[in-house]
Amino acid sequence: MPCEIVKVGSATAIICGRRRGKRKPCFVRDCRRGGDVLCDWILHRAGPDRPALTCDRLCCRHHARHVGVDKDLCLEHALQWEMMKRNGSAGSIGG
Ligand SMILES: [Zn+2]
Ligand SMILES: [Zn+2]
Repeated sequence: MPCEIVKVGSATAIICGRRRGKRKPCFVRDCRRGGDVLCDWILHRAGPDRPALTCDRLCCRHHARHVGVDKDLCLEHALQWEMMKRNGSAGSIGG
C-alpha cells in the first residue's frame, strides 16, 4: 500500500502501511462493526493431545454471547448452547 499524504491544518503528515481502525468485520453480513471475539464453540475434538477445532467465527460484541470466562459464542452456537442448557446437557461447550 502506498503512502498517503494527509494535510492537517498547516502540517503535513505521511501515513504508510495499514490504516488504523481497519478490523476484520463481524460475521453478520449487515453488521458494520468490527469483530471483537472469536466463537469458542468446539466443532471437533481431534484428540487429547491435539487442539480442538473451534468455530472461530469473528463476532462483534453485539453478535456474540459471553457464556463463561474467556468463552464467547456466535449467534448460531449461542442458540445451540441455550438448547443444550435447557436439555441439561451443557457440560462443556460444543462437546
Ligand atoms: Zn455484529
Ligand atoms: Zn460459532
